[in-house]
Amino acid sequence: MSISKHIDPEVLIREGRDKRHAHHHLVGGDPSRVSHPYNARYGTESIPKFKIPPKGITSEAAYQLIHDELDLDGCPSLNLASFVNTWMPEHAQKLMMENLSKNLIDQDEYPMTQNIHMRCISIIANLWHAPSSHEAIGTATTGSSEAIQLGGLAMKRIWQERRKAEGKSIHEPGPNIVMGANAQVALEKFARYFEVECRLVPVSINSKYRLDPKKAMEYVDENTIGVYVILGSTYTGHYEPVKEMADLLDEYEERTGHSVPIHVDAASGGFVAPFANPKLVWDFRIPRVVSINTSGHKFGLSYVGVGWVIWREKQYLPKDLIFELHYLGSVEYSFSLNFSRPAHPIIAQYFNLIHLGSAGYRAIALADLKNARLLSRALERTGWYTVLSDIHRFKSDGLLAKAVAGIDEENAEVYEDGLPVVSFRFSDDFRQKYPEIEQRWIQVLLRARGWIVPNYELPPDLEMIQILRVVVREHVVETLIDRLVADIVEITEDLIDRGSSAHALDTLGKHHDRKTDHANLGRMEKGSGAQSSGTYAKQC
Ligand SMILES: *Cc1c(COP(=O)(O)O)cnc(C)c1O
Repeated sequence: MSISKHIDPEVLIREGRDKRHAHHHLVGGDPSRVSHPYNARYGTESIPKFKIPPKGITSEAAYQLIHDELDLDGCPSLNLASFVNTWMPEHAQKLMMENLSKNLIDQDEYPMTQNIHMRCISIIANLWHAPSSHEAIGTATTGSSEAIQLGGLAMKRIWQERRKAEGKSIHEPGPNIVMGANAQVALEKFARYFEVECRLVPVSINSKYRLDPKKAMEYVDENTIGVYVILGSTYTGHYEPVKEMADLLDEYEERTGHSVPIHVDAASGGFVAPFANPKLVWDFRIPRVVSINTSGHKFGLSYVGVGWVIWREKQYLPKDLIFELHYLGSVEYSFSLNFSRPAHPIIAQYFNLIHLGSAGYRAIALADLKNARLLSRALERTGWYTVLSDIHRFKSDGLLAKAVAGIDEENAEVYEDGLPVVSFRFSDDFRQKYPEIEQRWIQVLLRARGWIVPNYELPPDLEMIQILRVVVREHVVETLIDRLVADIVEITEDLIDRGSSAHALDTLGKHHDRKTDHANLGRMEKGSGAQSSGTYAKQC
């Protein structure tokens, strides 16, 4: 027997069990059982993992069992990979608990909930400078993904209507949508699910790893339903230049007569830009921007489960996407993809809006950016790392750069705009000196210390560049950054000291798709999906 044969941990457990308890007649030898913590104490049965148990267990036991299993999840506060908010004040939690059972669609039953929903839409439309917050129309969604599908659908429908009115074909060659190759997966999903050709504009170091408007114009034609412009690329946090894109599309319209709208994906930036730099023009102040989405559960600071899509005016949401729902005598309108959906995340969003106000959101955004600058500078000072995100650099436009001496370091407006995200890689110097050290080992070694800091490949054409990325959210405070920097420095030093013996880590790094359940039920086999047109290991 070869020592290197594959060892299935599930088999080890099965064979290691005391034989008397190995099988139970009710489940016909199904080995996949969970024994709950009260088994021994109350002499109760274990329950099958992948089938509904014939007889339930007490709610107390069910709670304890699931609670204990979930302890194996990572710690949200050490998860520096996610944009999604993980903390709300106690009063928000109380409100959410009180409203857990409310369904947003039951507008007649819960008129106040619906009212709060409408208020949120007006507030956000106003925040993004919709020409009139009465004319703006929008809806809560589960997140930006759903909002992006809706924004795309409206643009597709408008293009179709226009083509039909002009007596032109909507099938040959059919609609296309233009976006940077750095687009989040939700944008590509829209194209594939709703049968729109996805035109990915290559990104480059010069374009700062995001959409280059000039290059994008090479992909625009009369069948382009719109351009997705991202306010906050997930790779580096750079804002894409919405204004420049709009100007080029204005010129294009003058030249050709084709009007191509912009939908801004402000999943992360929608609640950062308006507060950190109110002067930055990216929203409905630009007439070509017809719709915008954001994730309430990112920098909107709600718990997961809420996003928003807003159209600048009703005319940009075609009527046949709006459903009239007739309830006891009243008419309500629905244009989200879900029918039933929880109302409590929307209530939590409203809580944030009135609890924090502009000043509160601004204070948090500025603190996040300040902490991100701290981390960026510390990493650069090691000499081992190069930072690709730019929010810690002063704006390059002349005057400011000259006045650096008198600059107010706390003022976010003097720095490059962007999300509080730190994307970094080994410096060229470091790679030259230590070619045997692989950057993804940093991810693995940080994970061993509890930190989740992902190592991603950049989008196609730049996939040879890997980045480590930290999202600086509200809880990523200075003390946490201190600790993180100390750990990164220690780990990097260790790797340098050990030189080539660190190769052992190579194997460690390759096994990140740890199997925890033997049957892996409900999971897809690797490779069972179609090839993505972008990088396969999409960042999230
Ligand atoms: C997170 C994100 C999305 C997807 O949003 P969800 O709220 O997770 O559905 C889309 N685009 C960008 C730029 C994002 O950051």
